This record gives sequence, C-alpha cells and structure tokens, in this order.
Amino acid sequence: MELDALAFGAHADDVELACGGTLVSLAALGHKTGVVVLTRGEMGTRGSAKIRAREFADSARIMGLAAHRMLNIPDGRVEVTWTNKLKLIKILRAHRPKIVFAPYWTDRHPDHEQTSHLVRQAAYLAGLVKVETGQPPFRPHKVIYYPSRFEFTPSFIVDISGSHERKMKAVKAYKSQFHKEDGAEPEGDGTLIGRPDFLEGIETRDRHYGGKIGAKYGEPFLVREAIRIDDPMEFFGPECLWARP
Ligand SMILES: [Zn+2]
Repeated sequence: MELDALAFGAHADDVELACGGTLVSLAALGHKTGVVVLTRGEMGTRGSAKIRAREFADSARIMGLAAHRMLNIPDGRVEVTWTNKLKLIKILRAHRPKIVFAPYWTDRHPDHEQTSHLVRQAAYLAGLVKVETGQPPFRPHKVIYYPSRFEFTPSFIVDISGSHERKMKAVKAYKSQFHKEDGAEPEGDGTLIGRPDFLEGIETRDRHYGGKIGAKYGEPFLVREAIRIDDPMEFFGPECLWARP
C-alpha cells in the first residue's frame, strides 16, 4: 500500500511520543500514514514483546494509521548493517512515502541513533536502480527528524492543537509502560516513562513548542537541507502573524 507519510521508530511508543500529534493531523487531512518499529522492545524494563505488540496495534488504530509494522531487529542491538538497510529499503519501496520521519541522529539511546542513520541511508539507497530488491526504485522527498531525549533548534513546528488529545490517547495505549498506582512496579525500574509525572512532561513539552508558534500544542522537527520557498508572501501569511516582531 502506498503511503504519504511513514514514521520510523526504534521502539513502540517512540513515534507516538515525538510525532503522534502530527501523524494524527496528517490522517485527519486525508493523508495515508504509517509507522514502522524496528524492534519488538524485548529489552524494555516494563511489559513484554507480546504486550507491546498489542499496545502498538491499539495505538495505530487510535492514530488512524493506514499501515503499521513491527520488525524483528534485536532490541538494544540496532546496527547499521547492509541486512538492516535492505529491510528498510524494501519497506520504503513497498510504501513509497513522500515524507519519512526518523529519530534525531544524536540521542542517549544507541538504538535511536542507529535507527536515524539507517533510515537516512536507506532513504537514499532506495532510489538507486542498481540496489536490487525486485521493486522499482523510490526515494522519499524528505527525511524529517523528531527529537527524543536530546533536543534541537527546530526547523519547523507543527501545530497539533487539534490532535493533541488523540495523541495522548495513543500514548496511553502503552499501558504496560506507565506508572502503576497499585505499587506493582518492576524491580529496579529507572525508566522515565515509568515515572508518575511522565505524561505531564509530554503535555508540558507540547505546550512549550506550541507556545513558540502561537498555538496551544506543537511538535518540533528538524531537516538537514534548507527549505525551499517559492512565495515568501504566501508562506509568511496571516498564520505566521505570531512570528512577526
Ligand atoms: Zn526508544
């Protein structure tokens, strides 16, 4: 199935937390969206691979995804290998997404960094005729990066005021990852997501980026290339009022 936008994450819930609102908004605008998760999350402190797969399916339904898929690259061992690149090239050629979301290339979790490199390289290689997979070559228009732990100065921020509520529903589909009020906490758990105030932190971050563009909620993104604008008058139109001095 052809998609308009495809987001890659190392682990289930990475994408929802960083660009769930944007994916919900895109689907609401009639675009076909998808998420591909590289690992099954079996190294995670909380839940199990099976539970996370079920939660991922719930989240996909809530976000209105046209496609979602979980690969089987070992969790904690996402590496930039030719085998892994080929897996991603095949997915890109099968879905032919115009834009691709990937984790920011600098992060605390090595899987996030490697996923970033893998997606960028696969997006380029998928366009080469001589990389043979039995599919026609295809290269996405743009690879767009989303933040995880480490932040960046955004190239742009998407207004997700209208989709924030649904984003939080998708995040909450990962029930196994959150703090349990009944005290049934896993031994030695130091995960951020397991903290009681985790969801408030997401809300605060989305409010923070929304505030920068005069919206209630926002999600920040980064692109490596300069952004082409044909008509600055239209681009910096009334909706950019907030950015005026
Ligand atoms: Zn992750």
